[in-house]
Amino acid sequence: ARVAIHHFYCPLPLYLERTKESYRVHAAAQEQMPGGVTANIKHFAPYPIVMKGGDGARLTDVDGNTYIDYLMGYGSLALGHGHLAVTQAVNSQMQKDGTCLFGTPHRLETEYAKKIKCFFPSIERLRYTNSGTEATLLAIRFALAYTRKTKVAKFEGHYHGGFNEVLYSINPDEIKAGDAEEPLAVPESAGLVPGGEKNTIILPFNNSHACETLLRKHQNDLAAVIIEPVQGGFIPAEQAFMTHLREVTRELGILLIFDEVKTGFRSALGGAQSVYRVRPDLTTLGKVIGGGLPFGLVGGKKEIMDVSSPRSGSDVFDTLQSRGSSAEDTLFHSGTYNGHPMILAAGLAVIEELEKSYTKTLNFTCELKNELASFFEGRGITVQTPGMGTIFNLVFADGQIRNYRDLKKADLSFRKDLDFHLINEGIYTKPLNRYSIATVHGEQELRKSIDALHNIFAHRTGR
Ligand code: PMP
Repeated sequence: ARVAIHHFYCPLPLYLERTKESYRVHAAAQEQMPGGVTANIKHFAPYPIVMKGGDGARLTDVDGNTYIDYLMGYGSLALGHGHLAVTQAVNSQMQKDGTCLFGTPHRLETEYAKKIKCFFPSIERLRYTNSGTEATLLAIRFALAYTRKTKVAKFEGHYHGGFNEVLYSINPDEIKAGDAEEPLAVPESAGLVPGGEKNTIILPFNNSHACETLLRKHQNDLAAVIIEPVQGGFIPAEQAFMTHLREVTRELGILLIFDEVKTGFRSALGGAQSVYRVRPDLTTLGKVIGGGLPFGLVGGKKEIMDVSSPRSGSDVFDTLQSRGSSAEDTLFHSGTYNGHPMILAAGLAVIEELEKSYTKTLNFTCELKNELASFFEGRGITVQTPGMGTIFNLVFADGQIRNYRDLKKADLSFRKDLDFHLINEGIYTKPLNRYSIATVHGEQELRKSIDALHNIFAHRTGR
C-alpha cells in the first residue's frame, strides 16, 4: 500500500518561493552554458538549486537556505565538505611545492599506489587519470589492446561515464530496450559514432543464464565485460551471479572489469570486490579516492597493465617516434595532469581518515536506513532501502529490486515529490538520486531528517 502522489500537497510553490536567487543565477547561467549547467546531470526541472558553500554535512544555497547534504558530490565526499585533514594535506603539499605540476615522476605517485594496493590486492599495477570516465575509457582500451578483440559488454542500467562504448542502455526507454534476456543497445546521446552499437553488447544484470548465453554467443569478439558490481551503488549483484560471471569470463578469455568508481571505499574499504571475494582483471576507481578533487585510476593484473609500459617494446629508447611501428603494440596513455601532487595528497588524507572512521559511518548508514524504513512503514508505505556500505537509495516499490527493469516499476513520482518536500525542509539530495553518507553525518542529521519527514506528513492533504 503506497501513498499516491495526490496525497501530498504540491511542493513546487514553496520551492519557487524559497529559491528565488537560485532561479536568477540559473537564468544568468543559461546565457553562458547550454541549459545553464556544466554537466547534464546537474540539471533538474524546474531549475536546480545553486549552492554557494559547504561545511561538513551542510550546504548553503545562494538564497541563504541551509541543507543537510546527502548528495555529497555524487558520493565523492566521504568525509563531508571541507574536511580539515583534506584541506591541511592540500595546503601542506602546496606550501612544500607550490602548485607544482612537475611533469616528471615524483614520490607521491608510488606512495599512493602502495596505499591503494593495501585495499585492492587485485591491483598489481595502476595508472592515474583525471576522472572516473577517463579511467573506464582507459580500462576498456587496455582490454581491447591486451586481448586484440573488438567488442565490450556492459550491463543494462549501468553507468560508466560519457564516451562512445558505454553510452548505451543506461536508462533506456522500456519500449526500445528489447527483450529482457537479450537487451538492445539503446544510444543515450546524440553524436555517437554511427554503427557503434554493434561493438557494445548489453547484458541483463543478475541473470546468470541469459548472461552466459550472450557471452558464449559473442565470445570471439568480446574483449571485456565491464560491470558496476553494485548497480548505481545500491543494487548489489547477487553472490552466485558474480561468482558465475567470474568463472564464465575466465573460461571464455574475456576480461572482467569492475567499475568501482562509486563502490570503492564505499561498499567496503576494499570496494565491492572485497565483499564478493572476486578478483577482477581490471578495476577502475574515482570519486572518494580524490577527496573531492578530479581524479581516477585504472589498475589490475600486471601483464595487462604492462601493455602501456613504454619499455614493453623492443626499443630501449622508449619514445613513440623512435619505436616506429612498435607504437601499435603499446597502449597510448598520457595526460598533463595525471598524478597531480595536490590530488594525491588529498586522496591519501581521505583514505587515512576513512581507515579510522569507516565502521562508524557504516553503522550510522544502517541506523539511518532503519529509521527511514520504520517511518514509512509506520504510515503503511512500502519502502525499500537497498544499498551496500555507505550508499543506499529510497525505493518505493513492492517487488524485489534486482536490476534496471525492476527499478523502472518503482513509484518514481512519489519519490520525486518527496524529494522536493525534503529540499523545502532543508534535506538535500538531487531529486531521485541515491544517498551517500559521510563521516560527518551523525545523530543530529538523523533527527533533523526524521523531523523533516514528520513535518511533511503532518501537512499531507487527502484522506
Ligand atoms: N563509473 C561509475 C560507476 C560512476 O558512478 C561514474 C560517475 N558517476 C563514472 C564512472 C564516471 O566518473 P566521472 O564522473 O568522474 O567521470
